[in-house]
Formats: sequence, C-alpha cells, structure tokens
Amino acid sequence: MSQIIIKSPNPDVIWNSWKQKASRRNIKLEKHYKTKGAVFSLDNITAAEYVKAVNKAVIVFYEEIYEAKPSSTNKVIKKGNVRSLQKEQFYEFKTVAVKSEWKGPEDVSYLNSIQQYSCTTCNGSGAITCSKCNGRKMITCSNCKGTTVGCKTCKSTGKTTIKISVIDQQNNKMNVEQTVPCPSCSGSKRIECYKCGGVGKVPCDSCQAEGSKRCKDCSGHGVLFKWVVQPVPFKAERNATPVILSTTKLSGFEKEMGAEIQNAIERVEGIALRDPYNELNQRFIEPSLGYYSKEVDKIVHETQKSWRNAEKNKDYTVKKPVYLFPLIVLDCETAKGKKFQVFSIGSERGYLVFGKI
Ligand SMILES: [Zn+2]
Ligand SMILES: [Zn+2]
Ligand SMILES: [Zn+2]
Ligand SMILES: [Zn+2]
Repeated sequence: MSQIIIKSPNPDVIWNSWKQKASRRNIKLEKHYKTKGAVFSLDNITAAEYVKAVNKAVIVFYEEIYEAKPSSTNKVIKKGNVRSLQKEQFYEFKTVAVKSEWKGPEDVSYLNSIQQYSCTTCNGSGAITCSKCNGRKMITCSNCKGTTVGCKTCKSTGKTTIKISVIDQQNNKMNVEQTVPCPSCSGSKRIECYKCGGVGKVPCDSCQAEGSKRCKDCSGHGVLFKWVVQPVPFKAERNATPVILSTTKLSGFEKEMGAEIQNAIERVEGIALRDPYNELNQRFIEPSLGYYSKEVDKIVHETQKSWRNAEKNKDYTVKKPVYLFPLIVLDCETAKGKKFQVFSIGSERGYLVFGKI
C-alpha cells in the first residue's frame, strides 16, 4: 500500500500540455487567442491570463469486460404427447447466436431433435383395456351379485296354498286348501332383479361399456415424442467498455476520456485498486489521494455497486485493477471571453489532458 500522496501536475503544466495537444489536433488557437497588432505565439497564451479557476476532483476508471459464456447446463431429454409438443417452444440454429442480442432462455428445445416413439402405456394402440370389466364391457350386477334371487313368498317353489271357504248340504262350513301359482313370482320361483332385469350383469360404468379407455399418456394417439433441451450455441464475444465515474461534471468528455485512458493506461498514474473488496474505501484511498470527501465516497460506493452487480452476472466482470485518478479542472477563457474547461487526469508523473473550445 502506497503511503505517498499522489501529486497532480500544476495548472501551468496542464495548460501547456493542453496547448500542445490542441495544436497537434489542429484546434485553431490562433482564431481564439490572436490579438490585434501582436504576432501569434503559443507561448503568449499563458495560464496566468486565461485560466480563471482551478478545481480538484477525482475520477474512477475501470473496464467492464463482457464475455459471452455458454450455459453450463447439461443436455436434458424432455418427453411429452402431441399436446406437449404443440405447447413447447422449439428453436433451430443455422449458425451460432449472439448472446448480447439473445432474448430467449439459455437452454432451449431443439427442433431437429424431435423423435417419435410408440406409447409404452398402451403399446401404441391409443387405448387401454378397461381394468374394471377387463374389456368385457359388462360387469356383475352389484344388486344381485349375478345370482338369481329366490322368491321369498313361495320359498322358490312357485306355488302357494290358499284357503277357500266351502259350505256343504248340511250347512257345515269348512275351509279347503287350494294350490295356486305364487302371486309374487307368478310361479317363476324367483324375483327379477330391478337393476339387471335378472341377467346378472350390467354395462360397465367405468368404460361406458366400451371395454377400453383412451390412453391418458398419449391422449389416444398411440405415439409420444421426445426431444433435447440444451444450451443455445453462442458466438464467442468479448469486449471491454471503459467506465468513468467522476466527482464533477466532465462536459461530455466521458467517452473520449474513457477510450484514451483505456489505450494509454500505462501513461496515466493513479491509485490502482487491485483488491476492490479491501481497497475501495477511505482507509486505503485517503493516504494516497491526500484527502477524502463526500463526493469521492459517492463514486467509491458506485464503483462497489457495479463491482457487485458484475459479480452476479456470469458474463460481466470488472477488470482489475480499478483506478482512481486525481482530476484537475481548469476553468478557462479565450481572448474573446468564451468559457471552456481543460481537464487533467493523473499525476504529474503521468497524466492526460482533455479540453475543447
Ligand atoms: Zn398411450
Ligand atoms: Zn314366488
Ligand atoms: Zn341384478
Ligand atoms: Zn369397462
């Protein structure tokens, strides 16, 4: 851990560097700084005259790496009937997909993997024999249990004896017995079952007397389907996006700064945070930066948050180290009074300047 306070370049140095960079980039300083009667020279545009204020700030810089990683799931076989097949979303890949543009799930059902096979439950017939009637369509009557019910009145004799009153010539009254067919069973000796009409069997209520039922597994189709669910084939993708967080407004320079620091990171000196969990805090930063403010704390927290978010997504990582750079903001003016800002990022030993009139 460095205890040496990182030193920013002084405003004169920044101003001169910016002037050099501006001339290299063909910014017409002459147009903004030439005064009547005087010969134009870069040396005559001094910080003392044109830098109106100097402000200290801090930026955090890191690279967010996006690397498309394929799903690590193993392939799974899914099975179903024709209805499941119709409900399923299938995919077909003629080439690899671009993960950053992919909207679907990472593991999908493959169209070209669909296979048809005979339903094992019904052996491909689509129907299974009714287990209640064993395919006979009729079952034993539950009322008579299939046996005939004997007539109780005649004890299954079919006959009954009745008494008839008779008076003879001497006026004697007597009863004589007479055998008649049983009035309950009409002589048939048995009572007909109300449920089966005496047949002893009734239609099977389980299969509606069909003898078989539609196979539930294949919905009566006799066939089932299986297919493969496996990861989407993703193209190898990798890109590094520079991210800049600042304690002050950067006048729209974020993109340019990010790209330039990314390309010239070895030329910019800052505080390198190689262990963000232990170093993204005041205890580590303050000794090197020389101060610590609410604004610095805010960007430090934002960086911690991005770090944690990136750790939750397997495709994103924050590249180590994360850098914290001193930022000097020069509030400048042209000879004609037009205001603009010049930024210096880094230490006096290594810094980059930015600024546009
Ligand atoms: Zn079946
Ligand atoms: Zn009877
Ligand atoms: Zn019956
Ligand atoms: Zn049945």
